[in-house]
Amino acid sequence: MAPYDIRLVGDPVLRQPATEVTDIDARLVRLAEDMIVTMHEAPGIGLAAPQVGVQKRMFVYDLHDEQGSHVVVNPVISETRGEWVYEEGCLSVPGLSWEIVRPKEVHLSGIDLDGNQVSFEADDLLARMFQHEVDHLDGILLLERLDPAQANEAKRVLREQALAAGEGETRRRLRMPGRA
Ligand code: ZN
Repeated sequence: MAPYDIRLVGDPVLRQPATEVTDIDARLVRLAEDMIVTMHEAPGIGLAAPQVGVQKRMFVYDLHDEQGSHVVVNPVISETRGEWVYEEGCLSVPGLSWEIVRPKEVHLSGIDLDGNQVSFEADDLLARMFQHEVDHLDGILLLERLDPAQANEAKRVLREQALAAGEGETRRRLRMPGRA
């Protein structure tokens, strides 16, 4: 069983900016490990601490390549380039995805769990996931990245889902590879 329930849209914790991590201690390492398990079970390619109700600037990711799982603490995106349309989903907005335009390449820096500086030149899916996770740390959901037509449709669908949930229907959980 996943150590955490993933917080869903409507939960105020997803709308609050997270605070900088000042101490990398055993608790933080444990949190990262539990977040990785939660992400794998979801399944998703990234998970930010606010999605498990913790207001710390940290996220985990795993693009299911030979690199395995990673943790980035206090991430900062310092440069962005280009434009890329990608169908993006979010574990906190289950079952839905939208074609969203964001920069294609980003430079992201931060620290790892050993306190070492890390720095990435990322493009495509890695860059997309980094932007999505840093948004979570700023209290921003992908719903804020939709164009006006997509936003209207999203509002309608989310309202219907809320009504359905109120009537006791089980929430649909579609398995999609690009969710974070
Ligand atoms: Zn997300």
